[in-house]
Amino acid sequence: MRRLFLLVVTLCALGTAHANTFIERLLDRRVPGGVAVVDLGNPGQPPRATFQGKPVMVLRDGERWIAVVGIPLDTTRGNQTLQVTGGSTPRIEFDVGTRHYAEQHIKLANQRQVTPNPDDTRRIERELAEQQAAYRTFTPGTPSNVFLDRPVDGRLSSPFGLRRVFNGQPRNPHSGLDFAVPTGTPIKAPAAGRVILVGDYFFNGKTVFVDHGQGLISMFCHLSVIDVKVGDTLARGGVLGKVGATGRATGPHLHWNVSLNDVRVDPSIFIDAYKP
Ligand SMILES: [Zn+2]
Repeated sequence: MRRLFLLVVTLCALGTAHANTFIERLLDRRVPGGVAVVDLGNPGQPPRATFQGKPVMVLRDGERWIAVVGIPLDTTRGNQTLQVTGGSTPRIEFDVGTRHYAEQHIKLANQRQVTPNPDDTRRIERELAEQQAAYRTFTPGTPSNVFLDRPVDGRLSSPFGLRRVFNGQPRNPHSGLDFAVPTGTPIKAPAAGRVILVGDYFFNGKTVFVDHGQGLISMFCHLSVIDVKVGDTLARGGVLGKVGATGRATGPHLHWNVSLNDVRVDPSIFIDAYKP
């Protein structure tokens, strides 16, 4: 009995020590489409970590190093492994739970945006490759902030992860978070960053990618106006463009993607608006 009591006390103490760190309390959401904040201990030099072959963000958090890992939306419940170099252990396991994502039916007047023609398909593939390359960007600089500012003030509309059906046909789940705001609303960088890609795409319309450092990438799309070009640096809060309805959009809104280690994760986590 006494041993059991001691075990419970020890577990509680460990639990408290973990919950105390600020980044973990705000960002650790171990579900598909979420984020795992993983303790890497306290080696003198920053350890390096990879997840599913991709480099992962490593930050100093108080007395220790932590990895901030994006968890793909199609991850099934169970253990995942983080590979670590320069830490106390080469492999760290973490557990991923489940999360329910609702289904949404959308009516599009333009059937070509549901079933693109062969020319469109070639264009879409080219544009997809360009955007996938941007998401793989990994630069060493630490982000100015990992709790991100809202890029616009406005009501959150479609959440991340919605399983979408366009005109009765299932399509990719919603990769970002939508804000219901009028055309012309200025869009502000949620953290400092560098513009790595600008385009006018079949699905996403006018689009801007911003690299915040260490694989944390923001993507903003359906813009009416783009105010930046590739290579520009943005201060936190710097304006990059204006809200619109270009590409596959049923009306004006801002669509914002957040990517970590080349994985699109729920942006609501980073603005403290996450609902399990
Ligand atoms: Zn959207």
